[in-house]
Amino acid sequence: MKYAKNILETIGNTPLVKVNKLTSTLPCVVLAKYETFNPGNSVKDRMALQMIEDAEVSGILKSGGTIVEATSGNTGMGLALAAIVKGYKLVCIISDKQSKEKIDILKAMGSEVHVCPTDVAPSDPRSYYSTAKRLAKEIPNAWYVNQYDNPSNAKAHYLSTGPEIWEQTGGQITHFVVGVGTGGTISGVGKFLKEKNPDIKIWGVDTYGSVFKKYYETGVFDENEIYPYITEGIGEDILPKNVDFKIIDGFTKVTDKDAAIYTQRLAKEEAMFVGNSAGAAIKGVLQLKEHFKKDDVVVVLFHDHGSRYVGKMYNDDWMREKGFLD
Ligand code: PMP
Repeated sequence: MKYAKNILETIGNTPLVKVNKLTSTLPCVVLAKYETFNPGNSVKDRMALQMIEDAEVSGILKSGGTIVEATSGNTGMGLALAAIVKGYKLVCIISDKQSKEKIDILKAMGSEVHVCPTDVAPSDPRSYYSTAKRLAKEIPNAWYVNQYDNPSNAKAHYLSTGPEIWEQTGGQITHFVVGVGTGGTISGVGKFLKEKNPDIKIWGVDTYGSVFKKYYETGVFDENEIYPYITEGIGEDILPKNVDFKIIDGFTKVTDKDAAIYTQRLAKEEAMFVGNSAGAAIKGVLQLKEHFKKDDVVVVLFHDHGSRYVGKMYNDDWMREKGFLD
């Protein structure tokens, strides 16, 4: 018999799938690292498990303890899988711009969920960062995961996602393009790939309303870059420790409208029912066209599943309301 001992053993080893129609104007091949095949339907299962296992080893997460995290939903789902299998309680703090589906999924997985306002400064006591820190202090035997600054986040991608991409492309990858939120994915995968071949280019996809691109290009943390945006999962109003700017070769910014339209196009033209940051990532690849030549192998990572966006980017009424469809 061949079976996984529990659901956590099915994390990782996701397929690499060629994108065909949407990238037909590019000279190179574009392969999607298709992370929805993880049991929690997102890449975040990998880092959630790594963060929990490292916290167990270091002793900060104790038997029967409570895991507290500020999460846009996917990390919460990954933490929920590990918490259930390993017997921990989970409290998730989520911002009010996240889709209802993400909140409902966390509740379905037994997590306590606190919803916080998006449009307040990170230092505001109502922000989701501050609320997470406060709850972690108030709840006995609690551990605040802090995916933004927790090194086990990028480590998970250095140990699993990066090596998988290197092996699946037979070492032929020339570019890696990925949306950046906490920075764990780009930094872990990027570090591994650059160690294998320093010529591989690592590109981050950012969103308008986020600080990354300007900070990367000028070294200035410009608060004028920060304003509310619709795209989910990528962009930040802080500089997480997990973003390793040294291994990044550049950022491209994608508009909310393009990210939403390309999310729909991935489903309708490639049969890839993926999340909003995948739409941003594939549009980012198209924007970088001038950097690619024939024989290049571009890998783009699709973080999560389309089911989490059926009330938003996959709903034409919502799309019209936002002015994204005529
Ligand atoms: N896309 C989605 C849907 C996400 O949930 C996240 C995590 N915030 C990202 C992209 C960005 O990944 P990372 O945090 O590793 O930079």
